[in-house]
Amino acid sequence: MTRVTIWYERIQELTDAKVQEAYPQGMAEAIASALRSDDVTVRCLYQQDPNCGITQEILEDTDVLLWWGHVGHNDVPDEIARMVQQEVLKGMGAIFLHSAHHSKPFKLLMGTSCNLTWRENGDTERVWVAKPSHPIARGLGRYIKLEHEETYGEPFDIPEPDVTVFLGGYSGGEVFRSGCCYRRGAGKVFYFQPGHETVPTFYNEDVRTVLRNAVQWAKPEYRVKELECPHVSIPD
Ligand code: ZN
Repeated sequence: MTRVTIWYERIQELTDAKVQEAYPQGMAEAIASALRSDDVTVRCLYQQDPNCGITQEILEDTDVLLWWGHVGHNDVPDEIARMVQQEVLKGMGAIFLHSAHHSKPFKLLMGTSCNLTWRENGDTERVWVAKPSHPIARGLGRYIKLEHEETYGEPFDIPEPDVTVFLGGYSGGEVFRSGCCYRRGAGKVFYFQPGHETVPTFYNEDVRTVLRNAVQWAKPEYRVKELECPHVSIPD
């Protein structure tokens, strides 16, 4: 059984009709419905929950955490970001979606500004599969076509990815590293660019395949209970 936790800020969909139209059941449920199965349990946490819904117990009970945030990044306490980062170092998988490039836990894990260039004018995007042999690309064709997405462009201030699985190309001309894999400590991190709140990207079947693949890729292979740096003597 794979234990998935979706963390979603749930701010814009409470007030913005365009977001409600794109995700009538809510974005968290759109993501959850792609992942839920006999082998995958899904729990949703919201920024409005006490302590943003995050506890140490929940993190330890999570194989893969998905994070979608946007306008509320700065209201997530630094301590929450640190808890997430530490749990990744211990082996928890983490998937950061779309505007989570600026979330505190992602920036902490990357160590860079994670700034990018962006524009919202209804560009069509092709998310090109740059690494077809990678498990996250399993079952996809040459590209995922998204009729409309927010345009994210380079330069994207991230450390060079271990693997760039996807490259986004937009009708406006930009390109972007849209699917980036990292290892941090014992954990795996995947950044995936599609998922703007006013377009129903998370109902795209190929995007849903990527989410499922990414969860299976990111789930822990090895997990430690505590991060430690023990002083040891010479073995007998
Ligand atoms: Zn967006």
